[in-house]
Amino acid sequence: MTRLAKVALVGLGSVSGVKAWGVLGHATVAYIAQNYVTSDTASWLRNLRVDQPRAQGVLGDTSDSYLANIASWADDYRETKAGKWSAPLHFIDAEDNPPSDCNVDYNRDCGNAGCSISAMANYTQRVGDGRLSDANVQEALKFLVHFVGDLTQPLHDEALERGGNEIEVTFDGYQDNLHADWDTYMPEKLVGGGELTDAKSWADTLVGEIQSGNLSSQAAGWIDGDDIGDVVTTATRWASDANAYVCSVVMPNGVAALQSGDLYPDYYNSAIGTVELQIAKGGYRLGNWLNMIYKASIAKRDLSGVLGESDDPTPDIGGHDFLPARRAPSRAQLARAAMGGSCCNARHNH
Ligand SMILES: [Zn+2]
Ligand SMILES: [Zn+2]
Repeated sequence: MTRLAKVALVGLGSVSGVKAWGVLGHATVAYIAQNYVTSDTASWLRNLRVDQPRAQGVLGDTSDSYLANIASWADDYRETKAGKWSAPLHFIDAEDNPPSDCNVDYNRDCGNAGCSISAMANYTQRVGDGRLSDANVQEALKFLVHFVGDLTQPLHDEALERGGNEIEVTFDGYQDNLHADWDTYMPEKLVGGGELTDAKSWADTLVGEIQSGNLSSQAAGWIDGDDIGDVVTTATRWASDANAYVCSVVMPNGVAALQSGDLYPDYYNSAIGTVELQIAKGGYRLGNWLNMIYKASIAKRDLSGVLGESDDPTPDIGGHDFLPARRAPSRAQLARAAMGGSCCNARHNH
């Protein structure tokens, strides 16, 4: 296709913002997780429960896409007026110094408005909290499914240039930004589309790799030490793991090196294996995490017969209890606030 034809097609693309990991990435994480939840966990989440009086699953969705269907809800929600407050929960802005030094420090990097790590702690607690209403539990689950995915995207764990949103690059002939390439355009280039059916087939491929392929020897390590009793430590480990790729894969030669020439095919070829690895990790971790919540909170509650909601659960949907001590915002935090606290820009839609 000529460059001119590509430019003309830009206007026909989606006008909505790029999603954190696009719809494709989040749905793939969700489908992989569906493969690893136990039948008890799946019943709790999705369908009618013959053994319980309150027989509706959390999601009330008996389809084969019950997690994939809600995996990008949080991105749609943050775009609404009512959901704007949740925008900072999609990332943690690690104020490290790539490519020479990568690290995540929860107390340094989680801002006063919250971050992906505090959100994980909050929604993990809320999903398992029998005092909350069905609607509140469902909402917490939708956040949780999404944020496990966001945490594995390296540029969702990096403050530099607002998570790479301000790094203008060329990818496969299009002018866009590095963040959007990692969220959406590199995954879609690999898979060939961004629909749920594309996510399902990508998930099947990655599950095969986890079960008996290249990833089989690593998978146990992805969840090693995961502890729903200490979510901040667990999610910080996930964020640190992804953030390390900012130095080694995302920008190993610094920012300027990304802006001289097209990122396709050489950079894409150097990075796409990490994209696949991170999506696989997200799905495997999410399945295990949901099983752990079920075991620790739901199964116990079912046994004791306590299913009711309290009169006053006083839900703190923002999870402020989990935040580090308040402090004056850093320059990176002010820059992010100027972006409306959002995670992901797509001024140049493909
Ligand atoms: Zn994003
Ligand atoms: Zn997101």
